[in-house]
Amino acid sequence: MHSFAYKNSALHCEAVNLSDIASAMGTPTFVYSRKTIMDDLSELKEALAPLDAHIAYAVKACSNMAILNLMAKQGVGFDIVSGGELWRVIHAGGDPTRCTYAGVGKTEAEIRYALNHKIYCFNCESENELREINRIAGEMGVKAPVAVRVNPNVEANTHKYITTGTKENKFGVDFSRIEELYATIAAEMPHLYIRGLQMHIGSQLTEVSPFVKAIEKVAPMARKFKELYNIEFWSIGGGIGIIYDGCLASGSAEWWTAHPEQITLKSYAEAIIPLLQPIGLKILVEPGRRLVGNAACLLTTCLYEKKGEAKTFKMIDAGMNDIIRPALYEGYHEIWPVKEHKNDTIVADIVGPICESGDFQAQNREIADVKPGEILAEMSAGAYGFSMASTYNSRPLAAEVLVDGDKWHVIRKRQTMAQMVEDESLPE
Ligand SMILES: *Cc1c(COP(=O)(O)O)cnc(C)c1O
Repeated sequence: MHSFAYKNSALHCEAVNLSDIASAMGTPTFVYSRKTIMDDLSELKEALAPLDAHIAYAVKACSNMAILNLMAKQGVGFDIVSGGELWRVIHAGGDPTRCTYAGVGKTEAEIRYALNHKIYCFNCESENELREINRIAGEMGVKAPVAVRVNPNVEANTHKYITTGTKENKFGVDFSRIEELYATIAAEMPHLYIRGLQMHIGSQLTEVSPFVKAIEKVAPMARKFKELYNIEFWSIGGGIGIIYDGCLASGSAEWWTAHPEQITLKSYAEAIIPLLQPIGLKILVEPGRRLVGNAACLLTTCLYEKKGEAKTFKMIDAGMNDIIRPALYEGYHEIWPVKEHKNDTIVADIVGPICESGDFQAQNREIADVKPGEILAEMSAGAYGFSMASTYNSRPLAAEVLVDGDKWHVIRKRQTMAQMVEDESLPE
């Protein structure tokens, strides 16, 4: 449950009035709740307690150093997808020996960097990648820990761009080819040792059944590999969904009682524990979105309104460069005025300043009839929000703030114009 709610008609994050942050920082600004992250982390740890479970936070969801540091202090490991993410983890106080490294396109420099820091495991996505890691480890005189990502061909019932576990996706190795591939590693790649098995079927899953199906399908393989190769872990990936439509209301316990169908950390754990416990392997879970998504909003200012023949538009100062989810995969974010409105809703498109028709945050949305100058909070903005931001249209990167009770801290200053261009140069 998150910590965003109206108090005395003003939207707060924990005990801080979001208007105060907007006045001090300007907009657009991402605001994270420390309490929300900590509460969810404890709930997940508690729910998984019957297993030998290890949490590897998926850094790409939100990679701010302060957020990584918060996770590291809670003893969490990390799932990384690039050398840059490993660098962040190390410099944020994380332990590289608790990092798993996923992704289909690891470069030689990245593999060497990860081997130098003795990461926990390379989660590999193709035979050629395994051969490359074997070659590099051989040159470095080390043995590289590897697991292969199995693609169980299970439908995750999520958006097509964030489904990863079907035959149509670039991720993982086909279920039918995995056993042969493990045998090939054992026989032909002397500089690797097989440490585990990995899967990740998609993101923003709102039901437990696809997780259950995938685990049931792969469990016999995990048992077999434990016997044949003495594997130590099975990573079941991330993907637990959060609340987008209904976000603000889901800050209350009543909402959860009224929505028993919504996946919770508890229902997720209860569904998978009986399947995993008998196998006796260390279980890695790699949540990204679920640990940060509902823990932040993006503050933005309404700039203009325009009534067209067909539509009303509200222009805001946050664009697809700040949060690309609506444009990229039809992401839905609730948008609330920081000063509460009552009974004046209209239907409008909430659009950003970027010169792209895809630059909208909401379309045909029933929303408070906010006026220019008013501050809005775009909810559920913590995951794949800032981490996907760019400076497209030469818009400097937004600021980020972490709220802790009645205090708040700047965890990223707004980028300046000069910083935005500092690496550019004119030819001699
Ligand atoms: C992105 C990713 C995750 C995290 O997914 P979420 O939906 O954010 O939980 C976990 N594992 C792997 C391999 C990933 O690529």
